[in-house]
Amino acid sequence: MQKKYNPIEIEKTTQFYWNKIDAYQAIENDTRFPNGKFYTCSMLPYPSGKLHMGHVRNYTINDVMYRYMRMNGYNVLMPMGWDAFGMPAENAAISNNISPAKWTYDNVSYMKKQLSSLGLAIDWSREIITCSPKYYKWNQWIFLKMLKKGIIYKKTGIVNWDPVEKTVLANEQVINGKGWRSGAIIKKKKIPMYYAKITNYAEELLEYINKKLPYWPKKVRLMQANWIGKSKGIFLAFLHNIKDPKKNNKLIQKGKLWIFTTRIDIIYGITFCIISPEHPLAIFAAHNNILLQKFISEYKNNNIDSNVLEKKSILTQLKVLHPFTNKKIKVFVVNYIIEESYGKAAIGVPAHNKHDFYFAKKHSLSIKQVINIKNKIYSDKIWQDWYIDKKNCYCINSKKYNNMSHKEATNAISTDLIKLGLGNKKNIYRLRDWAISRQRYWGTPIPIIYCNNCGSVPVPEKDLPVILPETCTPNGNNNLLKENKKFLHVFCPKCNKLAYRETDTMDTFVDSSWYYMRYTSPKLKNFMIDDNKINYWMPVDQYIGGIEHAILHLLYARFWTKFMYNLGLIKFNEPFIKLLTQGMVLNKTYYRIENSSNKKKWYNPTDIKITLDKKNKPIHAILKLDKKPVIIGNIEKMSKSKNNGIDPQIQINTYGADSTRLFTIFSAPPEQNLEWSNIGIKGANRFLNRVWNFSYILAPRIINIINLNIFPNNFSIIKLNDNQKMFRRNIYKILQKINRDMENIQYNTVVSGCMKIFNILECINSNTKYDNNTNTNNDTILCEGMSIFLRTLNPIAPHITHVLWKEFKYSIQQGDILNARWPQIDSLALKEEKEKIKLIIQINGKFRGHIFLKKKYTTDFVKKIILKDKAIQKYLIHPPKKFFIIPDKLVNIII
Ligand SMILES: [Zn+2]
Repeated sequence: MQKKYNPIEIEKTTQFYWNKIDAYQAIENDTRFPNGKFYTCSMLPYPSGKLHMGHVRNYTINDVMYRYMRMNGYNVLMPMGWDAFGMPAENAAISNNISPAKWTYDNVSYMKKQLSSLGLAIDWSREIITCSPKYYKWNQWIFLKMLKKGIIYKKTGIVNWDPVEKTVLANEQVINGKGWRSGAIIKKKKIPMYYAKITNYAEELLEYINKKLPYWPKKVRLMQANWIGKSKGIFLAFLHNIKDPKKNNKLIQKGKLWIFTTRIDIIYGITFCIISPEHPLAIFAAHNNILLQKFISEYKNNNIDSNVLEKKSILTQLKVLHPFTNKKIKVFVVNYIIEESYGKAAIGVPAHNKHDFYFAKKHSLSIKQVINIKNKIYSDKIWQDWYIDKKNCYCINSKKYNNMSHKEATNAISTDLIKLGLGNKKNIYRLRDWAISRQRYWGTPIPIIYCNNCGSVPVPEKDLPVILPETCTPNGNNNLLKENKKFLHVFCPKCNKLAYRETDTMDTFVDSSWYYMRYTSPKLKNFMIDDNKINYWMPVDQYIGGIEHAILHLLYARFWTKFMYNLGLIKFNEPFIKLLTQGMVLNKTYYRIENSSNKKKWYNPTDIKITLDKKNKPIHAILKLDKKPVIIGNIEKMSKSKNNGIDPQIQINTYGADSTRLFTIFSAPPEQNLEWSNIGIKGANRFLNRVWNFSYILAPRIINIINLNIFPNNFSIIKLNDNQKMFRRNIYKILQKINRDMENIQYNTVVSGCMKIFNILECINSNTKYDNNTNTNNDTILCEGMSIFLRTLNPIAPHITHVLWKEFKYSIQQGDILNARWPQIDSLALKEEKEKIKLIIQINGKFRGHIFLKKKYTTDFVKKIILKDKAIQKYLIHPPKKFFIIPDKLVNIII
C-alpha cells in the first residue's frame, strides 16, 4: 500500500479497471441481483461545452443512489445521453462559423471525458444523442401517429415570438413575459403552427398529479396543478337579437352571448360585459363604426407584448339581456386577451371584482352590491378586499337567492339557468395546447410535405426519417432549411409532382419527452422501443433534475407517456415514480461599476482576495490582479452572467473526484441549495487524507485478521469487554441512522455518519495502545468496523474505498466493493445496551472515564468497581473522601 494518498492516480487506475470489467453495464434480469430492477435517471444534459457544478451535483446524487441500491441487491440502471438539438448550438455555430453538428459532437466528446473523470456508474453502452436520425426518426413517427389521431393539428394563431431567438415559444416557455432562455420580451405574432393537444389530457394529468404521484415533491405537484388550472364554473347566456346582414340576417351565435364564470352567485351584480376584438359580436359592431374598426385592426397588428400593453376599451351600441332581470346590458370591446375557453368574453361585476370596480368608475357604470358579510359596510367609493370573499358571504339584492351562502347560491342559480336553457356547467383549464413548431434549423424536421395539388401530405412511414442536413452553417438571419434545395424539394408522395418540405422543426422538448424510454433499447433499429426491455425497466424508479423543469419538461413527458400508453405501445401511463428536484449551486459574486457604461462588471470569485471579520464574514474584497477593491454582491446561483461559476474540472484535477463528490454531498441536503466553499472542498480532501493515513497504519493488522481467518460471522462467540461492546453498539447505531438517511435521500447526514464511524475506529485504535490483553479482539472489531465504514462511504467516494477495500483484502471474500453487500445490522450488538448501564465517572467534577454495570446494583458495589478500575485508579492520587452518585448516570468522587 502506498504511504501517501494520491487521488489523481488511484482514481485513474480505478476508472480504468471499471471500464475493463464493464462494471456498470446493466442487463435485464441479471441473476446477481435478487431484488429486481431499479432505474435511476438524471435529466439528460445539454452539451453546452463543459460540465458545471450543477451537473456534478445532480449526477453525484444519482451515483450515490446507484451504488447504495446495487449494494442492496438491486439491478440498477443509470444511463446518460445528450439533449443535442436547440438554439444554443445554433447560436454558437453562428458566432464560431461552424456547423451546429460539429459544435455539438465536439462538446459531447469533451463532456463525456469529464463525466468519466467523476467516476460515475453510467452504463455508457446505452448512450443516446437526440440529434441522431436513429433517435429523432421516432419523434417523427410519433408525430405522424398523433396527427392521425388528431392529437397534433395545424392552426394559424397568435403565438409568442422571441425576437432574439427568432422563433416561437410555447406558453410554458414564456416566464413573466420573457423568453425562458433568451430573456427577451416576447412579442405576439400570427403564424401557422403545429400544436399538440395536451389539453385532451388535462383532467388525467391533473388527477394523477393530485392523487397518484405520492413520491413527487409537493411543490412540483402544486406547480403542475396550478399550471393545468382547473376551474369549475358555468357558461351563462345573454340573449340578444343581433343579426348579421352579411350572413342572411341570421342571429349571431343563435342569439346567445355565452360567457364563462366561476362566480355565478353574483349574477345579479352584472352591469356590463366585455368581449375580445375577435368575438363575432365585436366584428359585427365594427361594420359601421370606423373607430372600432381601427381599434380591432390595431389589436390584430399589435406586435407588442400584451403584458405591457395599455389596457383600452371601447363601448359598442350593442345590448344584451341579463338572463334573470332581462335588463339591457352594455357591451365593451377590450384590447386585452380574454381566454378562448371563457368564450372570448367576460361578465362585469364591479361591486365584487377589483378590475371591474375601476372599470365601472372610469366609465360611470352602476355598481350594485349583491353579496355581504356580517358586520361589514360596503362602500362603492373605495375597493375593499372582502368584496370578493366566497367563504363568509351571503347573497343580498338577489331576489329569491337572498341570504344563501356562496355554495347554496351557486347550486340554485346554476340549476335555474340550466332549466331556462341559459346555463351550461363546465370545467375549464388554464392549460393551452403545446405549440411544437419552431422556425429554426437545428431540430427534428417536421415530416410534412406541401403539394400544390394535394395540400399537406404526411411523409409516409417508410420514408422516415426525414434527415436534417448536418453540414449547414447558420448565419442567424433565416432558417437554413428554406435555402437548402436538396432538403426542400421533394416529390409528393400522393401525386408524385414536385412539392416542398415543411421547414419548421420540432420543439426540443419533444426530444426530451421520451428519451428515458429509449435508454432501455438504445440501438434498436426497427422500432422506437423493445417491448420486453421497456417493460422490464420502466417506469423510472427515481428521476432527478432541476425544479425549473417542474412544468415544462415534466408535464410534456407525462403527456407523451400517456399518448404512447393510449396507443398501446407501453404498459405504464406515468413515466417517473419518484422525483427529486435537487437544489442549486450558489456562489459569492463580486463586481465593479464601470465608469464608461455604468454597468456592472462581474469578477470570478477565484480572482478575488477577501478579508474576513471575526465571525468569518467577508468585510473587504480586492481583485488579485490590480489589488483594488471590488464590491461584494449577493450569493447567487452559479452562472455565466454573474461570472461566479467554479470549474469542476479544476477541482477534480486538484483534489480528486472523491473530494469533489464528498464536498457536494456533505455541504447540503440534495433538495436544498448548496453554497460553494473553498474551505469546504479542502476539508473534504483533508478527511480522505486522514482515512488513507489511518488505513496505512491499520492495514497490516486487518490483513492479519483476514489472513488468520478469525473474522467471526457471529460476534457472540468472542468475549468482548464492555468498551468493545460499546464501540460496536455505537457503530451499529450510526449505521441504523445512515440506513434511514439513505432511504430518505438525506445524503449529507450519511456523510456525517461515516465520519462518526471513522472517529470510533480511531478511538478503538488508540485504546489498543494501552490495553495489550485485548489487542486481537480490538483488531477484530476494527476489521468489522472498517469494512462497515468503507461500504457506507463507498457510494459517496467510490475510488478511495475501492482501493482500500482491496488493500485490506476484504475483496478476497466479498469481491469488489461495488458488488459487496450493504452492511447488515447486527441486532445483538444493539441489544446489549438494554441490560447494561453506562456510568460516567468524575473526580472532583472532572470527567475521568466510564464504567458499565448490570442494572441492579448497590452503592457499595459501585464504589468497589470504580476503585478496581485501572483507568480510574491513575487519577486517584488521594484516597476518596466522598462519593456523589446520580443513579444510572454519574458518580463524582471527591478526593
Ligand atoms: Zn400531390
